[in-house]
Amino acid sequence: MSKRSLPEGLGEETLAVRAGQLATDQQSHSEPLFLTSSFIYESAAQAAARFAGDEPGYIYSRFTNPTVRAFEQRLAALEGAEDCVAFASGMAAITATFLALLQPGDHIVSSRSVFGTTNVVFDRYLKKFGIEVTLVDLPDLTAWRAAMRPTTRLLFLETPSNPRAEVGDIAALAGIAHEGGALLVVDNCFCTPALQKPVELGADLIIHSATKYLDGQGRCLGGAVLGGAAELREIHAFLRSTGACLSPFNAWVFVKGLETLSLRMEAHSARALALAQWLETQPGIRRVHYCGLPSHPQHEVARRQQKAFGPVLSLEVEDSDGRADRQAAWRFIDATRIFSITANLGDTKSTITHPASTTHGRVPEEEKRRAGVSENLIRLAIGLEAVEDLRADLARGIRALGYGEN
Ligand SMILES: *Cc1c(COP(=O)(O)O)cnc(C)c1O
Repeated sequence: MSKRSLPEGLGEETLAVRAGQLATDQQSHSEPLFLTSSFIYESAAQAAARFAGDEPGYIYSRFTNPTVRAFEQRLAALEGAEDCVAFASGMAAITATFLALLQPGDHIVSSRSVFGTTNVVFDRYLKKFGIEVTLVDLPDLTAWRAAMRPTTRLLFLETPSNPRAEVGDIAALAGIAHEGGALLVVDNCFCTPALQKPVELGADLIIHSATKYLDGQGRCLGGAVLGGAAELREIHAFLRSTGACLSPFNAWVFVKGLETLSLRMEAHSARALALAQWLETQPGIRRVHYCGLPSHPQHEVARRQQKAFGPVLSLEVEDSDGRADRQAAWRFIDATRIFSITANLGDTKSTITHPASTTHGRVPEEEKRRAGVSENLIRLAIGLEAVEDLRADLARGIRALGYGEN
């Protein structure tokens, strides 16, 4: 096993490639994949010591696996978090955080613009266990403050939000949480640590759907929770007993994905910004929602807390007869030939979707309206194709709205 250890104070790109490196007796250069359910011991006494927690080491891959640990350590190094626990999916990470840390009578304040399935967890499951959730508008700090109760334990948000790209001021929200004795939980899926570091801004827990940009090529599901040792101990104990563990194979894919994360996020963001700026000048595009545009209401907050503006933007369309409805949006989507028509994102392949009839299809009308998910809204997640090809593809959509050459 190598005796060479990494020096202190390394840059982020170095950590992405080097942190959590597993050294083996076989001296493999690429990170090894430990695809094994269990581990063996030298003696009965050693087995007993491992199970008692008196000797560190691996036991069973539901809660201890070297490849999963390598992913956790590399992601923790990038987020600047004390520790990390990996999960089978982003939803498993979110649910585990709530169930490990909360009890009946506790209260959550959450942005109303969170991943749709997170809202289902609030409504259908947390409610059942006596945990109440108050929804507020992400950018409205007054509303967050007003929603706080003596029983509030967690503040929960995603920023920028999906699909409207609203931005929450993480440092200000951390202040509100801590004044009320609560923890701030940030789902950092859209920015990743390459663009935004919630821990540095005062957040207590960070959540990831690794399925998206950490993988970056649309292959595996996974998730993670990061934060301080005390909370993470509870969350790891929950994982050990309830079992939504990350597959070592998926962890290995994510370990390799993290190596190119900052390059990819910069490239996604540069393409998204160029397309957002261009779309703003085009006929048939009523509005572009992207926090990289000066026209965006929280552009300054985004500039302050993000390194770049990320891959996701949305636009409101209107056809040449003035109709700004579902038919116009669908015509635009169906005219593209490169963008994949799918609600997924976090891929090298650009995707296009109609939130009102897909991701938000089951959301009640009133809540859809409050979240700004209108019938003429289209969401784009920009991949890594040539930006000219993507622009030409969106121009096909604009022509389908009845506008001529552009
Ligand atoms: C996809 C997603 C999730 C859920 O992650 P899964 O890995 O699909 O379970 C949570 N939060 C955000 C912001 C997401 O985009």
